[in-house]
Amino acid sequence: MIVCAEQARVEAELVGGLLGCPSCRGVLGPWGHGRERVLRCSAGDWLLRPRRARCGGCSGTHVLLPDVALLRRQDEVAVIGAAIEAKVAGEGYRPIARRLGVHADTVRGWLRRFIARADQVRAHFTRWALVLDPELGPVLPAGSGIADALEAIAVAARAWVLRFGPGDPWRIASVLSGGVLLSNTSSPLAAVR
Ligand SMILES: [Zn+2]
Repeated sequence: MIVCAEQARVEAELVGGLLGCPSCRGVLGPWGHGRERVLRCSAGDWLLRPRRARCGGCSGTHVLLPDVALLRRQDEVAVIGAAIEAKVAGEGYRPIARRLGVHADTVRGWLRRFIARADQVRAHFTRWALVLDPELGPVLPAGSGIADALEAIAVAARAWVLRFGPGDPWRIASVLSGGVLLSNTSSPLAAVR
């Protein structure tokens, strides 16, 4: 489950009963912490100790990952997003990796995953864009599977900003994908609610 990166705000929302359960209509309450992990950010490594929450309805527990992260990815979503944008612009994975200071195999893995999920990503973010902005016109094809997927993410992020105010597009993408933008699992992207 992906929440806003500002930890104090997450804590206040959690304690105040403002976070809803992603599995049912229950309310989440504090339930310790998840395991520590290092998130590689452009500004340096961030030692992350994500909050764990438990639902008062279904008793399910959820790790609250900040929106700068994606599930099972060690790098900040903005860095992964920059690699995807560069790939769509025609750059190869090796120069992208050098420029971003990330191992080439890691970048190749992100791009392969994004290419494999491009249709799913495009459909998911197009649905979100229409939920956020029902007045939205058709999302025009951008020329290739991954370019269309990136365009759908950009359109959904713009619709989010119009509705809720300024935000970083890739952090918005993390929230709207439920953190599974590049997930290794076969689980579908979170349903639009
Ligand atoms: Zn629940």
